[in-house]
Amino acid sequence: MERIRLLVFNAALGVLDYRKPEGMAVEPGSIVIAPLGPRQIIGIVWEPERLSAKEVPEAKLRAVLEALPVPPLPAPLRRLIEWTADYYCAPMSSVARMALGSSAALRGGGTTTEYRLTGQEPARLTPQRAAALDALQGEQGSIRELAELASVSEGVLRGMVGAGLLEPIVVDCDRPYPPALPDFAEPVLNPGQREAADTFVAAVAAGKFAPFLLDGVTGSGKTETYFEAVAEALRQGRQVLVLLPEIALTENFLRRFESRFGTPPLLWHSSLKASERRRAWRAIVRGEAQVVVGARSALFMPYARLGLIVVDEAHEVSFKQDDGVRYNARDVAVIRARFESVPVILASATPALESLQLAEAGIYTRIELPDRFGGAQLPEIKIVDLRSEAPERGRWLAPRLVEEMKLRLARGEQSLLFLNRRGYAPLTLCRHCGHRFQCPNCTAWLVEHRFSSRLACHHCGHETPFPEACPECGTGDCLVACGPGVERIADEVGELLPDARVAVVTSDTLNSREAVGRFVAQAEEGAIDVIVGTQLVTKGYHFPQLTLVGVVDADLGLEGGDLRAGERTYQQIAQVSGRAGRAEKPGEVLIQTRHPDASVISALASGDRDAFYAAETEARRDAGAPPFGRWAAIIVSSEDQSEAQSAARAIGGTAPNHPDMLVLGPAPAPMALLRGRYRYRLLINARRSAELQRYLQEWLGPLEFPQGVRVAIDIDPYSF
Ligand code: ADP
Ligand code: ZN
Repeated sequence: MERIRLLVFNAALGVLDYRKPEGMAVEPGSIVIAPLGPRQIIGIVWEPERLSAKEVPEAKLRAVLEALPVPPLPAPLRRLIEWTADYYCAPMSSVARMALGSSAALRGGGTTTEYRLTGQEPARLTPQRAAALDALQGEQGSIRELAELASVSEGVLRGMVGAGLLEPIVVDCDRPYPPALPDFAEPVLNPGQREAADTFVAAVAAGKFAPFLLDGVTGSGKTETYFEAVAEALRQGRQVLVLLPEIALTENFLRRFESRFGTPPLLWHSSLKASERRRAWRAIVRGEAQVVVGARSALFMPYARLGLIVVDEAHEVSFKQDDGVRYNARDVAVIRARFESVPVILASATPALESLQLAEAGIYTRIELPDRFGGAQLPEIKIVDLRSEAPERGRWLAPRLVEEMKLRLARGEQSLLFLNRRGYAPLTLCRHCGHRFQCPNCTAWLVEHRFSSRLACHHCGHETPFPEACPECGTGDCLVACGPGVERIADEVGELLPDARVAVVTSDTLNSREAVGRFVAQAEEGAIDVIVGTQLVTKGYHFPQLTLVGVVDADLGLEGGDLRAGERTYQQIAQVSGRAGRAEKPGEVLIQTRHPDASVISALASGDRDAFYAAETEARRDAGAPPFGRWAAIIVSSEDQSEAQSAARAIGGTAPNHPDMLVLGPAPAPMALLRGRYRYRLLINARRSAELQRYLQEWLGPLEFPQGVRVAIDIDPYSF
């Protein structure tokens, strides 16, 4: 009898032993179905010596039922799953789940069934069927997807299948993707790009682990440079993974990719249809998907022959996942490259301090592109001191900025105003009684969205219609907006420049690929004069007519006192500045601030990036922060405040003494109430070399908590 060990998708069970039936072919990485009580579960066959399981006598082992007809998860991915679980103190099953995309995609074979309207129009229809007929024109998908689209129950749609209104279509999930062609349209690179590209190409050809920091100013042509490495991987028949921080950014990337390689890459993201997900996953695990582009979730896919990983805009915050498995995709990408023995390129104009430090230490090879492509100049950056150049009463744009915008409008050029705040106003209060509108589920004010006339929480999604009267004192017409959001700035632009065509760009307005496409096309055609946007407009876009960038409130990001605030502000403003003057016309940036002497602002104005990073480095060294020391957070939450607090205190009270660890807290977490849960946080500051994970495991492992309490560990938390 042969015993096999399975990693199963249940954090509490984790690892279970089974019996392998005679003649069933499985090996480590094989995905199988096994019985658990009366149910069936999916498991991954694992090397028994790498995972411990509860001892079960042979006689009691149940047999595995079936091996799924998909290739086994490759060994480097299994090592990555182990590493990630260890490093981030996460259950292995939760990490492994990310490699499967969805387990539904595994069952069944290379086909799946979708449904579409037959075109029949019966004389009499229930209102729900009529609504579905309307909503599903031209759509095709699983019953569940169509039900969601049409906002009807799945039962209604099944009834419609029975009545001949919907018909099943068998979708072939193994049909090949059109091939990407490495030599489709080779660019002419400038000498700096050529040198960088040659280095990358050689590294791909060598097929060894090699981490690169591609550190090039905005507009230097980093993309074209790493595309040469992609081309080399294609020539070698290897797969490429490109991680991008946000799906909103990918539109532009997809177009450039297609013009370079003749076909778009495979896009992997969380809202793929089930059939697309199945097709993509199968092509990835068989090594047929050549280039996969995605946000962080693409990182754990089971690539069969990976040859290169690229992380673009590698400094971006959104690579850090803050729920479930709390990992940083930028860091894990480097680890994956190591396990796969392939090069990894981290590209950025404003690298994270941690990445720069690794480059300085010689661990990453730094490749610099100091000049913009095609002779374009970096924009001139000027400070508007709001203390001496105040905007008019009730306005947010200083006269000098408004004058510059008028000048651009007269010349037919574009301006971009950056304010990292969605909605109309961040706070609404009653003039009569002082009532402020707060989210019932979070420590956050409700933000007025005037376009949709609603009040919304940006943390949990809670929304209410904008009230006519104050709910506290009942006075009508007494609610005032405090502070600006992008919608309010857009209103102000409309009043000051009535002829300007203004576009508001936030995740509310660019909420689909179509919307992004429309915006980009309009901006390129010159159908927009002024763009008002949040961090969504800071990167990726290349609008040749854009010559002025105004930063509405540079001080916004510096509030809060988090040690990373300076770096984050620097990155955001440098990135948004990088949108100006990318073609022949020179660009100009006006930064509105009340703190012109802050080191971030003066570094931006003088263009002295090195001085800024040097000052940040010293501050981090003093605080024992990364890269000099490490932080971890323990977040304790419950729907019951006193329960959360006493659990956090109990944890704090059992912290083992250790010369390399400093335990702070518990204190209310930065979001003390989030989605209805009260949160307390303990911070652990560790020496660089300390065994932080083992310390946490020994501390927290034996503790038990009441049912409603959740304890989450965040290694290398983003804010500290
Ligand atoms: P970055 O990502 O470094 O900000 P991009 O890769 O977006 O810069 O390049 C800036 C602009 O220059 C883009 O419009 C790009 O198409 C163009 N460009 C860069 N390199 C080349 C090249 N070798 N040939 C033609 N156009 C290029
Ligand atoms: Zn909320």
